[in-house]
Amino acid sequence: MTAQIQIKNLHKYFEKLEVLKGINLEVHKGEVVCLIGPSGSGKSTLLRCINRLEDPTSGEIIVDDVKITDSSVNMNNVRRHIGMVFQQFNLFPHLTVKENITMAPLELKLKTKAEADDKAVELLKRVGLLEKIDVMPRQLSGGQQQRVAIARALAMEPDIMLFDEPTSALDPEMVGEVLAVMKELAAMGMTMVVVTHEMGFAKDAADRVLFMDEGIIMEEATPEEMFSNPKNPRTIEFLDKVL
Ligand code: ADP
Ligand code: MG
Repeated sequence: MTAQIQIKNLHKYFEKLEVLKGINLEVHKGEVVCLIGPSGSGKSTLLRCINRLEDPTSGEIIVDDVKITDSSVNMNNVRRHIGMVFQQFNLFPHLTVKENITMAPLELKLKTKAEADDKAVELLKRVGLLEKIDVMPRQLSGGQQQRVAIARALAMEPDIMLFDEPTSALDPEMVGEVLAVMKELAAMGMTMVVVTHEMGFAKDAADRVLFMDEGIIMEEATPEEMFSNPKNPRTIEFLDKVL
């Protein structure tokens, strides 16, 4: 079986700063990979390279057999299949919840108004927020806004979901409701790459955990191994601080 995401010898520089130093990674269909590591280690940059919010300096990224590092690739086509959820939910403040969710599929003419509305209803049910369909984002808590942001990403019917610290900006009491939605998505077979500091989520939901430090994947293991028997001294030091 070929991997859904293949990353080969990926390097990324910002000016003279080498942020990714030869990343090799394969993610299979339906797999949930959690990316952990200290601040500044390159986790966000790696995620952003996968949907080309950042241009890799060298190396290859292949998503669903399309070499997205080729300059000829239509990135809008690729991005349609890759949903991304950020720490800051970035909902459009002047649009209702429903409008936030239906905007992209309508603009891209992927769905009729009726189809897009139906999909919004289905997704809001799934994230437990159907009663909020006509409210404005500012009327929602942070956890609710993040659940809407997940629904908005899912409205494009992506094959892959990337999450960059989706719970880091939330008050502690709202973290659980967002993780629950992500766990359900994982259980439904979504391919997910999740940058997170929520080790509990990684333990419960990840198939594999990667520890990144200084632009390198230092260690890669099942959650059981990573959290009970980490091998790399840097991993041990990091986990001592966060667990
Ligand atoms: P992480 O997500 O693990 O905290 P990042 O990928 O955000 O790490 O950042 C890795 C390094 O790249 C950091 O030193 C950061 O300052 C630097 N960096 C990230 N984005 C940019 C950018 N757009 N321009 C210059 N430096 C950047
Ligand atoms: Mg980051």
